[in-house]
Amino acid sequence: MSRYSRQELFAPIGRAGQERLRGARVVVIGCGALGSALAEAMVRAGVGRLTVVDRDLVESSNLQRQSLFAEEDAARARPKAVAAEARLRNVNSDVEVQGIVADVDAATAAGLVGDADLVLDGTDNFETRYIVNDVCLRGAVPWVYGACVAAHGTALAIRPGKTPCLRCVLGERPAAGSGETCDTVGVVAPIVQVVAGVQAAEALKLLTGNDAALLPGLFTADVWTGTFQVMDLSEREPWCPSCAQRRYDYATADPPASSVLCGREAVQLRAGSGTALDLRALAARLRAAGEVMENEHLVRLRAPEAELVVFADGRAIVRGVADAARARSVYARYVGV
Ligand SMILES: [Zn+2]
Repeated sequence: MSRYSRQELFAPIGRAGQERLRGARVVVIGCGALGSALAEAMVRAGVGRLTVVDRDLVESSNLQRQSLFAEEDAARARPKAVAAEARLRNVNSDVEVQGIVADVDAATAAGLVGDADLVLDGTDNFETRYIVNDVCLRGAVPWVYGACVAAHGTALAIRPGKTPCLRCVLGERPAAGSGETCDTVGVVAPIVQVVAGVQAAEALKLLTGNDAALLPGLFTADVWTGTFQVMDLSEREPWCPSCAQRRYDYATADPPASSVLCGREAVQLRAGSGTALDLRALAARLRAAGEVMENEHLVRLRAPEAELVVFADGRAIVRGVADAARARSVYARYVGV
């Protein structure tokens, strides 16, 4: 009996659909709550190759909803992509799983998506989603948007050139900090499972050639009030530059030197020089300044005024500061310029 026998028994997938899954490459961008659930669903379903990309590390406040991680991952300050890869390989050793510790920006997105058959949105911000939208439209790669906060969430499968894209549906990118986030109003785990479940179902349809079964538009749900809806969205917008003019503004903009991570008093600073840091030497130097945690991927310093995490590629996340200037001064003080 095949490990996929129950999935093959499901008529719309069958043996032929299972073969298509085995031949597919899926990229999950962002491995927080949605990304964890999506990556696990794809690996259990038996896709051939799965890439998980995430820029952050596991913290104890993630464990309430980010199902791939455990206490040890937080205690050891493991990057989410690294912890996820190890866990996913345990779940299904037949799948070629690759975890990549990186920020998805306009410079890196196309390379990370590469020859993917499908991209799944596990991010928590619109800066990244609009880049993913343009990169997927340009490369004709279907992708499935998903988002949740508090007890409500939304999901939408996007087929380039066929169905409305994120820009068609939401207009131009909302300003950073203009919406609710998990860090300001919280999130309950069940909405994550509902939204990721719908995204994963759309993914299975796309990967097995069941496009006709895709939802006709935007799925929205609230698990607290018990509201579940699908808003019909059949037409692409004639004004949408990405769809109508093939103008991919978000995929071609220069990545900013810093990004305020939504709602969480944290700023990401991109690598300045592009040269790899000597993490061990940095950790040794920082020990006088506060509590230091070090592993092969990063160094974390808990200093009195902020927490600083420096990754091997020179990228840094500074927590406890609200603006980029403060973050840069913390970085300069401890790491140098
Ligand atoms: Zn569009």
